[in-house]
This record gives sequence, structure tokens and C-alpha cells, in this order.
Amino acid sequence: MTPTMSSEAFEQALQACAAEPIHLIGHVQPHAGLLAFERGDRQRVVQASGNIADFIGRPLAEVLGQPLSELFDGPSRASLAALQERCAALGTPVAGRLQARVDGSPVALIVHFYVSAGCGVLELERNDGVHLHGRLDELLLQTLDALLHPGTPDDGDAYFDAVAHRVRELTGYDSVMVYRFDADMDGEVIAQSRVPQAQDFLGMRFPASDIPPQARRLYTINLVRIVADVDAEPCAIVAAPGPVPAQPLDLSFSAVRSLSPIHMEYLRNIGVQASLVMSLLQQGRLWGLVACHHLTPKRVSMAVREAAIVISRLVSSRLAELQALAHDALTTTATQITAELLQHMPDQAVPVLQHRLLPPLQALMKADGIIGVIDGAVFTHGRVPPAALVDELLQWLGTREDRAVLALENLGAHLPALAAHVNCAAGMLCTPPEPGMPNAIIWLRGERVRTVRWAGHYRDGLVRNDAGNFRLKPRKSFELWTEAWRGRCEPWTPAELGVATLLAMELPERLAQKSRLDAAFRKLQRQEGELRLHRDHLEERVQQRTTELSIAKELAESANRAKSTFLANMSHELRTPLHGILGMTALALRRNADEAVRGYLQKSEQTSQRLLALINDILDLSKIEAERLSLDALDFTLREVVDGVDHALRETAAAKGLTLDLQLSERDAGRGLRGDPLRLGQILLNLVGNAVKFTTRGSVTLTLALQDQADGVLLSAQVRDTGIGIDAAHLPRLFTAFEQADPSMTRRYGGSGLGLAISRRLARMMGGDIRVESTPGQGSTFFLQVHLGHAAPRGRGRAHEPAWTQAEHQLRIEHAGIHVLVAEDEPISQEVSKCLLEDAGCVVELVADGHAAVAAARHKAFDIILMDVQMPGLNGLAATQRIRADTPNRDTPIIATTANAFDEDLQDCLAAGMDAHLAKPIQPELLFECIVRLLRRR
Ligand code: ADP
Repeated sequence: MTPTMSSEAFEQALQACAAEPIHLIGHVQPHAGLLAFERGDRQRVVQASGNIADFIGRPLAEVLGQPLSELFDGPSRASLAALQERCAALGTPVAGRLQARVDGSPVALIVHFYVSAGCGVLELERNDGVHLHGRLDELLLQTLDALLHPGTPDDGDAYFDAVAHRVRELTGYDSVMVYRFDADMDGEVIAQSRVPQAQDFLGMRFPASDIPPQARRLYTINLVRIVADVDAEPCAIVAAPGPVPAQPLDLSFSAVRSLSPIHMEYLRNIGVQASLVMSLLQQGRLWGLVACHHLTPKRVSMAVREAAIVISRLVSSRLAELQALAHDALTTTATQITAELLQHMPDQAVPVLQHRLLPPLQALMKADGIIGVIDGAVFTHGRVPPAALVDELLQWLGTREDRAVLALENLGAHLPALAAHVNCAAGMLCTPPEPGMPNAIIWLRGERVRTVRWAGHYRDGLVRNDAGNFRLKPRKSFELWTEAWRGRCEPWTPAELGVATLLAMELPERLAQKSRLDAAFRKLQRQEGELRLHRDHLEERVQQRTTELSIAKELAESANRAKSTFLANMSHELRTPLHGILGMTALALRRNADEAVRGYLQKSEQTSQRLLALINDILDLSKIEAERLSLDALDFTLREVVDGVDHALRETAAAKGLTLDLQLSERDAGRGLRGDPLRLGQILLNLVGNAVKFTTRGSVTLTLALQDQADGVLLSAQVRDTGIGIDAAHLPRLFTAFEQADPSMTRRYGGSGLGLAISRRLARMMGGDIRVESTPGQGSTFFLQVHLGHAAPRGRGRAHEPAWTQAEHQLRIEHAGIHVLVAEDEPISQEVSKCLLEDAGCVVELVADGHAAVAAARHKAFDIILMDVQMPGLNGLAATQRIRADTPNRDTPIIATTANAFDEDLQDCLAAGMDAHLAKPIQPELLFECIVRLLRRR
């Protein structure tokens, strides 16, 4: 046979054997008779064995159809009634004794009564000729004692040796063996007690096919089977005349049933003439057998048979006890492991858990590898097949319908893909599989290569019948042959199965709980993440908004800078010609004695000054708005400031017939103050100037008072006039730039509407403010408050500057003939500067750009250099740096002259190495004063 044929044929044979209805065999062993009767009142006999006359003295024909009561006498009828009652009460077959008469002589019978398919079944054996052990009672007691109180409670091997030994003593069979079945129902002889002649089967394995499934089922129903003589001819059971029964009598509970010819042949082949087999059950499943074999025919007494049943039950319960002990030990460890793990669960993520969970669980079951599935996630530890095969295994398990713990010792036989991985997965123990295998623990054991003694080989039992089908034939040769125990692992013990069941109930649920907790935690984390995202988003938006704002601010600033630059340029453009006009006018005034011409020139100068004032105002406002106006911190006195105002306005007031009244205490007038006297003067000039401007008669009074404060001095000033007053409606916008109370007045009084706006801003910069009270037609009062500091202790305040004429005079007297280099590109400015300086007795050398200035400075040492800042080619700043670097004029005072009037311009000039800065148009007096100051400093 080819291997394929062989395995097919084998399967076919197994099926044929499994199909054999051995409980419906229709025969009893000839040493016993059988009566089956209807239950109820009449108890008519419906079936009987052909040999029934041997037991009750009535031929078969007379027995069939008779009521049971007709076949037995009074006392036996009573015994039969009692038996039936006992059977009904116990629900199991019962045994008893009866008396019958055969050929006129009394016969003692052993009876076995049970119910089958609604019939009472009475099995009868003659009590004579049975080998009765003289010391049965004593032996039975000893046996029960030994089996109930084993020496060492948990030593299974010693216990089964004792069982074999005691049973052989009790029953007198030649050989008593204890079989144990593994998960595949292959049997192994784990204990044997025998006479020397009997064959040694200890350690041998018998294939599962030796006991077909239906036989195994019977073994669990009927705990003891006896074969008195394998060679005795079976006796047929005959039915009473009438309708043929649907099927032969069910002999599942029979004690004398004839065994299948295959079984008989099997026994014959192993040299056994008689046998008694007890089932060992474990939770209703066949765990093993106690097989008693005799080399010659042997019948046993009812006492022995009953004793065998007791022993079967006793050993089964002992088995349960042994297993419970082993289970207990394993469970305790398993519980410890899981308890420890579960304790750590709350703070451990599943992946961490698997490192702590899988290794001890693997060790617990003596496995080589372990697979844990937690909520569909697969974790492994130890030796496991490649991931793809693990998946295949899980898939296969997921399709199984059996929902019990699954233990396999030869996984490769079930899942061929794993056959190549016997080193790690020869066998498997799995928690009850479920569809999809969401949670599971699978233990894997590698192949345990060992030598097995097979009592024959599977294939030896095959024969082919006439129909061409294969049937199992009990093996003829029981010579030992060994087979490498390939592809199998160490069997899983019931205790291990128990632990798997326990863990299946506990762990996946707890792990799933843990997993759910983790999932909830992850969800929280996700939500937190989302919140963070949201927050980040908010932050991003805030950031974006900030950026937008800063861009807007940047834009505004750059617009402001552009405006300021524009204003600076415009003021440069306006100042340059004004410089020319004022300069030329001043020169003309100096050199012209004609009163009429001087009058024109003075008007031209005044108009130009007004234009300059406007330019200055616009520049001031733009500086304030761009926050580029800074206040000086100089020592000064109020007298200086008030004198300035007085000087500027007294003439104008007088011309209008107004009284200009300045009220300032002598003490306050001379107090050393610190602040910006020019800007303070500018405010007062504006307020008093307006008062004079908008008053036609009466007076203008300026009252000033100082008040000491914790951090300085508070200056309060009032400018009161008796002028036109201001309409209440105009008051709110009075301090807004370019606003005039009545625009129509512009024509009458002139003005730009900038003065009050600038004054209030300046006052606020000085930590104060301006407000107004006014009654139209009666006059206005402007209230000014500013904070000032105390003058530096040593100083007496800023020295009163020399009168402008004084500066020019000093220049002429003290510094006559000094050499001045004037670098100026604009021709009119060149001429103004040249004339002014020459008038004051200076020797002037003119250059038109920076390069020329540097060249001139290389050749000659000057006393003063006037340097225009904006010049073509090399500008004033760069030229100054070169002059300072390597010319004889390294230390010569350089005065910047520029129409750029911003503070930064001054800073740039100083940074480039210049000494002072004069804004164009240059006022002659300021120029002379500056030159004198610088020359003195040298
Ligand atoms: P202007 O250059 O036009 O005088 P100001 O800002 O100094 O600009 O004044 C704004 C306006 O306030 C003036 O045009 C005028 O209408 C009104 N004003 C200021 N001071 C007085 C005052 N003392 N009496 C009446 N009106 C005044």
C-alpha cells in the first residue's frame, strides 16, 4: 500500500470498527442466561437467551411470552420484586441472589438486573464453579483500606502500583495493568502486577484504535466488563413470537454481554483467555482502565464483580483527589502569578504586563513558548513559530466549534503547517477557543523525543473484507517495536488543563478589563492631546494674532517712520531755502542802513520765522506722535523761561494795548529746577501767545507757582486773558491737532491749530496736563501743571547764556582770524555761512563735498570745521570719520549743520565724531555761541 492508501485505508477501517454496534450484539457469554420482560403487572418475558433452561430449568419456548412470576417460585418472586425496587431506587444496575430449579434440583443463581429500552433485564449466572477466593472478605477490606489510605498522598506512580497489586490479589487474575489514556486516547500501561508467565506490558503504549469510540462510551456507562472465556461460543438472545423488536436488546449495562469478535481476537492475540476490565473515570470521561487478564478461562464471583465496581469508583475518586492535589499546587502558583500581575495592572500598560505575565505563565505549565492574545493584540514569549504561523494557528483555533480547553500533543497532525516547527510547537494547550480569538493563552511545547514501546503498530491491524473495505483486525504480532516519538510533546496533565480552564475564566477577562482601562486611559490621553492641540491651536491663534498685531504695529511704525522721514525730508527741503532766506536777510540787515529797506527785510525775516515756526511745530508733532521726541534734563530757573516769554511777547502785547502781567514770586523765580526749559518755554509761549492773539483789550496774566512734592516740584501756571473766549461746543476738540475753535478765525488771527495739541502733549510728557475754562466774550483761563525735578545740588542752574551779541563779540576779540573749514554743497548756504563767519573775523575755506573736506583737512589744521551732513559723494558723517582717523584735524571741533532736525541725527553726528549739531536754518547767534563754547573747551 502506498502511504496515502495506507492512511485512507486505516481511517476507513477505524470508521468500520467504530460503526460496529457492540451494545446491540444480540449475544451473551454462554456462562450466563438472560431474560428480558415487560415491566408492569404481567411482566411477560419478551426475549431470552437460548441457554435459559440451564438456569431456570424451563426451555426457551416455554419461557418466551410467559409472565415472570410463572418462572420463579414464591421466595424468588419476592427477591425479584426487591431487586427491581432497588434498581428503581438507585437508578443503576443491581445484583442479588435467586434460587431456581433445574432438572428438579435447586440452583443458586447470581443475578444482575437492569432496565433497558423499557424492559427489565435479568442476567443469571450459576453460583457454582466460580473460583471463590477463601479470604475474599479480608482481601477486600485490605484493598479498600490500601486504596482509601495511600501511604504518600501525591505519589501517583506508587498508588497505581498498589492498585495493580491489590486488585490482582483480590481477583486472582494473572496480570493486572493500569492504563492511562492521553489526550488522543492512546493508552499507556503505567502499572502492572503479573505472574511471571504473563506478558510484560509495563510502559507500552496501545494505540487509540485498540479501543474504538463506542467501546469507550460503553466503558463509561458500565464500569466493569468480564470475559470468562474468549473461546466459548456466544449464546444468542431470542425474541418472543410476535412483532419483531425494532432492534436487538440494548446490552449497554450488561455484565455478561458477549464481546465483539474483534475484541475477542485481540485478546486471543495477546495470549489472554479471560479478562475483567474496570473503567477509571475522571469527570465522566474515560481516564484509564484497570485491565485484569488471565491466561486460562476464568469466571469471577458476584462479590468480586461488585468489589471491582467499588474499586473502579474508589480509584476514580482517588484519581480526582490526586488530580485535585496537582491542580491545587498548579492553581496556587497560577493564582499567585495572576494576583501579583493583577495587583500591578492599574499602573502597567499591557505590553509591560506581557513581559511580566507571559514568562511565569510559561514556566508554570513547563511550556517552551507562550502566546497571549489580549483584545486581539498578539504577544509572545519563549520559543514560538514565525508570526505568520502563529496567525494561522489562531485562525484555525478560532474556527473550532469545541469551546473547551484544548490540549494537543501532536499539533502537526492537526495543522500540517506546524509540522515543520515541532521544536517549539509539537503540542499545544489553549484556553477555550472562541471565534476571532480575541483573548487567549496558548502554551506551546516542543517535541519531546523519546522512545516509545508500541504494543504493535497501527497498520498491522488492517484487513480487507469481501466488500473491499478495510477493517481493523486485532494485531497478531505484539513484538515490541520502538518508534521515535516524533512530533509529539510531553502530555498535558489534567491539572494543567485545569489551570488553563481557570486562567481562561480569570485572566483574559481581567486582561480585557485592563485593556479596556488602557483604552480608556488612551482615550483620556487622546482627549488631553486634543485639548493640547486645541490649546496649541489657541496659542497658535494668539501667536498669529500677536504676529498680526506686531506686523500691524510694525506697519504702523514703518508708516510712522515713513511719515517722520517724509517730514524730516520735507523740513530739510523747507529749511534749506529758509536757511538761505533768513541768512541772506540777516546779512542784508547787517549791511544795510536804509530804514525802509531794513523794514522790508525785517518783514521778510518775520514771515520766514513764522514759516520756520510752522515747520518746527509740524516737526514737533510728528516727533511726539512717533514717540521720538525726548525731553532734556537740564538745570534751569523759571526766571530764564519767563524772561524768554516776556522778551518774545511784551512788544506784541504792548502794540495791542494789552497789559502783560507776569506773576512769579522771587523765591520761585530763582529756584534751581531740572527739566526741559526750552519745551516749557514753548508751552508758555504758546499759551501766552494765544492769549495775546485772542485778546483785543484788557490784560493777559501769567501766574506761576512752585509746590514741593515728594519726588520733585509741581509747577502750576495760569494764563488768564480778557479776550474773546471760547464757545463751550469747541472746548472738547481744542487740543486736537489742526483744530481751531472757529476755523473762520484763521483768516483773522492766523495760526495752524497745532500749538495747543503740542503743548498738551508736552505737558503730559512732563507728567502734567493743560485744561481750559472759558466764557465767550469774557475771556479764557488756561491751567497748566507739569512736574519738574530739583536742580543738581552743586549747580546754580544753567549758566545764563551769553547774549548773542556777546558770543559774536567774543569770537572777534578772543579768536580773531581762526581758520574755519565749511563743507557745504548748497551754494546759498555756502555763501550765508561764509559771510557770517567772515563778518565775525574768521578765515573761511569752502568745500562742496565730503571728499574735498577730507582732502582739505589732510593739508591743513583748522580751528573749526562746519560739516553739512547730506552731501553728494562722501557724506558729512563718513568725512568726519576719515578726518578723525588720520589728518592733522584729529581733534578739531566739528559742528554738524543739517536740516535734519531729529534727535537721532544728533546722535549719529556725535557717534561719527562730531562735537555739536546745529539745525538749519542756522541762526547766526547760535552758530557763534557754539563756536565760542567749543573753542573754549579746547
Ligand atoms: P493756533 O495756531 O490756531 O492758535 P492753537 O492750537 O494754539 O492753534 O489754538 C487753537 C485754537 O484755540 C485757536 O485757533 C483758537 O480758536 C482757540 N484758542 C486758543 N487760545 C485761545 C484764547 N486764549 N482765547 C480764545 N481762543 C483761543
